[in-house]
Amino acid sequence: MVLSSDGEAVVLIDGEDVLSIDVEDLDRDSEQDTFSVWDEFHAFMEDLDLRMKRAGYVSKTNVVLHDVEEEEKERMVRYHSERLAVAYGIMRVPQGKPIRVIKNLRVCEDCHSAIKCMAKITGRVIILRDNNRFHHFKDGSCSCGDYW
Ligand SMILES: [Zn+2]
Ligand SMILES: [Zn+2]
Repeated sequence: MVLSSDGEAVVLIDGEDVLSIDVEDLDRDSEQDTFSVWDEFHAFMEDLDLRMKRAGYVSKTNVVLHDVEEEEKERMVRYHSERLAVAYGIMRVPQGKPIRVIKNLRVCEDCHSAIKCMAKITGRVIILRDNNRFHHFKDGSCSCGDYW
């Protein structure tokens, strides 16, 4: 389960196992010398972000209402729970299997376009169920046709 200010998202693996992610842990300043899944995830997110930017993805920071610096806005959008959950799924779900994520709120516009981009650059099928409908992401587009 991913908890953040915008609600929570759950990653399903093999349709049954529910993987838990705690955003508090992700923000932890890790000084331990043992291998940590969070360090791996951080590195994975950074790399994914870079690939998305190269693919032409631009954050729609206007969806964030807080009055903060541009960079901070981008960080907050990047860490929406559904987006973290999808990224975690891409990292952990074996290649060739769809990534299934359940989100308790309606997916925001920025995460929606970010996930389309993630599906495109990774070649993965991503199925996101929000509180309104299913989104089936494949090859840079979504089954909802951007109307949801
Ligand atoms: Zn979002
Ligand atoms: Zn959609």
